[in-house]
Amino acid sequence: MGASVGTMEVPRAADRVETVKQVSTGLAGRVKPLIRGLSDMVALADRNRKRTEVYAPFNRECIGTAPSCAAEDVKIAVERARDAQQAWAARPLHERTRVFMRYHDLVLDRLDSLLDMLQIEGGKSRQHALEEVLDVAINARYYAAHAAELLNPKRRQGLIPLIVKSWELHHPVGVVGIISPWNYPFTMAVSDAIPALIAGNAIVLKPADLTPFSALYGVRLLYEAGLPGDLFQVITGRGSLLGTPLIDQVDFIGFTGSTEVGRKIGEQAGRRLIKQSLELGGKNPMLVLDDADFEKAVYVATHGSYAGAGQLCISYERMYVQSGIYDRFLEAFVARTKALRLGPALDFSVDIGSLIGPSQLEKTLEHVDDARSKGAQVLAGGRSRPDIGPYFFEPTILSGVTEGMQCYREETFGPVVSVYKVDSVEEMIARANDSEYGLNASVISRDERKAVDVASRIRCGTVSINETYQVPWSAMGAPMGGMKDSGLGRRHGIEGMLKYTESQNITLSRMSPLFPIPGLSIEASTAAFVAGLRLIKRIPGLR
Ligand code: NAP
Ligand code: MG
Repeated sequence: MGASVGTMEVPRAADRVETVKQVSTGLAGRVKPLIRGLSDMVALADRNRKRTEVYAPFNRECIGTAPSCAAEDVKIAVERARDAQQAWAARPLHERTRVFMRYHDLVLDRLDSLLDMLQIEGGKSRQHALEEVLDVAINARYYAAHAAELLNPKRRQGLIPLIVKSWELHHPVGVVGIISPWNYPFTMAVSDAIPALIAGNAIVLKPADLTPFSALYGVRLLYEAGLPGDLFQVITGRGSLLGTPLIDQVDFIGFTGSTEVGRKIGEQAGRRLIKQSLELGGKNPMLVLDDADFEKAVYVATHGSYAGAGQLCISYERMYVQSGIYDRFLEAFVARTKALRLGPALDFSVDIGSLIGPSQLEKTLEHVDDARSKGAQVLAGGRSRPDIGPYFFEPTILSGVTEGMQCYREETFGPVVSVYKVDSVEEMIARANDSEYGLNASVISRDERKAVDVASRIRCGTVSINETYQVPWSAMGAPMGGMKDSGLGRRHGIEGMLKYTESQNITLSRMSPLFPIPGLSIEASTAAFVAGLRLIKRIPGLR
């Protein structure tokens, strides 16, 4: 199976699962025109590298192969990126942002192709793929529109008004390395790169091994939108091999993935003293208060827990429901969950798609079986569905989950939610915070003021009120990221762009020396300075 991507599409019979009946065949054929030529974009020191097969989770059809890069390829990628970066940073900002306004339109123009690609390579339902595509467009528009206000030099307060003038400047760090996961393989690869590029950096991306084409397709569209050649390099292959050489050569490392790997990345980046941002795992709580709008609560629970078949870092896995609403809520949530449609359709006719592959299926099964064997009740789902496709798993609700069961604290990263009955709001907050993670949460209450107060006491980087994770995520002007073991640094908002810059303070003094004041003794200068400080403190405009 070493043939080049454009010509090789025939699935290997041995890899097919015979029990799969309802799964679309011909996925490779459908995605072939989109994949053609993509792997030629990968930076390679040697064109004859081994290749890795990429499979469609819906039916295990091989859809193509991508190069398994080596350390020498990383070196070439970083060199090319570094060469291209200087000219790009020298371009006026409006020329750089123009590329991303075009990218916004191009991504929306290619919506159908992108949805096909994301569904076929990643196995998610079309509506969950749609969230991902829209997110990239929103991100490109937001940072293109706000770049000038974020990046342009700003006057800052100096020691003495009128005499000392200070400016804050932001320079690109240089080459930004990005390591991205398979779960949202288009937005996780491209969205964090967008503000970095606009700020004048070059990118070297290592997408997840399972989903290289969604990332490469997104990069190809960037070039189509006018990004200069070589500015965005991609290396495909295993993170365990390519991570270290990448971190050793770039000026910033952005990582999205598991907390376990994030710690290693952080250590390596720390040794080199390069900046980093880490977007890691979560065990996200949802709090349903007694005064919740019942319909909203059931909607948020059903739509916020199973996105990407639960393989979304910000979807909910723990649900704390106040006792007054518990029975009624649970009955409706179970009924809605059981009614969700599961399948591989490449249209909007199903709600939930497949897990990505065997290891994710195993982990999900393990968590459910472990809970069941230790006394938890399975109220909905709980089974894999090989009759639909090799890695499908039913959306699952558990009750009676206790400390000591794997899914009590560990991230399942599958469509599995534990529901807990809780008496007081204080207890809900305490239990929501009883986790090493702190990524995302949701609060449902009719009392907006109370909900905001509860939200502010939850140690999570984002909290939505009366809606799913979609609202804090798409609030592009505000930062998004994890507290505690869920990460370091933020994406979106001001921080999401300025983290890719080195800030510089340039300060000019029109009086020199400042101290002692020319013509005065040290004693007299001291007295003048002390009097001056007392005066400045009293005048609001000068403080
Ligand atoms: P992962 O195993 O940590 O992999 C993520 C990326 O890191 C992949 O590209 C992977 O390459 C690479 N990698 C693996 N080992 C590495 C190493 N030693 N050095 C450098 N890179 C390495 O995570 P995953 O299983 O793909 O994704 C699921 C996790 O990501 C979940 O915990 C989820 O919560 C988290 N996540 C968080 C966010 C967020 O925004 N906070 C978003 C999405 C996902 P390979 O492909 O070769 O393994
Ligand atoms: Mg992994």
